[in-house]
Amino acid sequence: MKIEELYRKVIMEYSRNPQNFGLVLDDTYKKVHLHNPSCGDDVTMQVKLDKDIIIDIKHEGSGCSICCASASYCTIALMNKSISEAEKIFNEFYKLVKGEDVDTTILTSDALAFKGVSSFPARVRCASISWKALQEAIMEASNEKN
Ligand code: ZN
Repeated sequence: MKIEELYRKVIMEYSRNPQNFGLVLDDTYKKVHLHNPSCGDDVTMQVKLDKDIIIDIKHEGSGCSICCASASYCTIALMNKSISEAEKIFNEFYKLVKGEDVDTTILTSDALAFKGVSSFPARVRCASISWKALQEAIMEASNEKN
């Protein structure tokens, strides 16, 4: 199997079987909604912190398969991470989708499936919109605690 096919399979798998999908009605979660007008992606990320640890992440929305897969994957990549670990993961993922070299000890191998979007500037936003929303939600949640 060619590597591109493998990556496409990873993305299809995540978008068909979204992880941590569905929001909860709970005020202890912080929620951020973002919309990508160029593609129509619409994402809401919800996060719950315990001190500086991300103890739960939920998402909901609709969009292209890259957007849905990325939203699903980021809930897994960041679950149970500390805020400082999360910052590193965010930065590496943004580098990845821009086609820059990344530290593969920080990102899991599934993340590499999104590397291909770097050849399509319009899709970079699709892959990163859920990450931006989640990052914002984490920031809001941690500001509120301090
Ligand atoms: Zn999209």
